Amino acid sequence: MARALEPVLVDAPLQRLWTREHGDVARLVGQTVRGVEAIGKHLLVAIADTHVLRLHMGMRGRLLQAAPDRVWVAWDTSAILVTDARGLVWRNARTVELTKRRDRGRSSALDCLGPDLLATECDIAAVVARARLLPPETALVEVLLDQRIAAGIGNVYKSEVLFLVGVDPRTALAAVDDALLERSYALARTLMQANVRAGPRDTVGVVEPRLGRDLQGRAWVYRRSGQPCRRCGDQVAMVRLGRDARSTYWCATCQPSTKVNRV
Ligand SMILES: [Zn+2]
Repeated sequence: MARALEPVLVDAPLQRLWTREHGDVARLVGQTVRGVEAIGKHLLVAIADTHVLRLHMGMRGRLLQAAPDRVWVAWDTSAILVTDARGLVWRNARTVELTKRRDRGRSSALDCLGPDLLATECDIAAVVARARLLPPETALVEVLLDQRIAAGIGNVYKSEVLFLVGVDPRTALAAVDDALLERSYALARTLMQANVRAGPRDTVGVVEPRLGRDLQGRAWVYRRSGQPCRRCGDQVAMVRLGRDARSTYWCATCQPSTKVNRV
């Protein structure tokens, strides 16, 4: 999406900027869009040299384009951006955030989003190095969701990856070695890349093509609590973990807790 928006937006002076949080942002009218970039699932629009508009479409978000005088705020409008030539309306986006750019001098390595796992090239070793900047007691489930480490892993891949590497989601970062982290991020990349295409998500067939063909719900553990584990037959469990208490699915047999809290 970023590539399609670049010619439309870059170097264009803003006629209007509206977000559901701020309403009309008058002070940025007349300022120029400097760049449009996609990082993971995030779209970043740099405005002047001072602000960044970040959008995350989530499951239901969509972008509509119209003539500049044909855009208006509806109940589900998330953000509006109007230039001389085009009006862009985002609706139902999960996240819309207008932030001031931080001073360069104050920024730390973790101030920005991590490498995009869906990019053509992705330096997994760099991702692991970023993960090691987190507090050692951080649970793996939080590490994987942290977009500052690697951009792109959502709630589904988090559970699927931890199942496939056989680690309890509550395991502390300090209890696992770099090889396991590398394996986890490389696997997330593989699963995500295989599912970029349209159609139902399938994380099973990517790993075991023969098994994948016979299954209806094509996840190893995600949204399968109470159902038999595809590997050992024991019951898949669900627990809410982490800062946002997001649902996490796992198999206690395939993901033993022996490493948990061994910090
Ligand atoms: Zn199992």
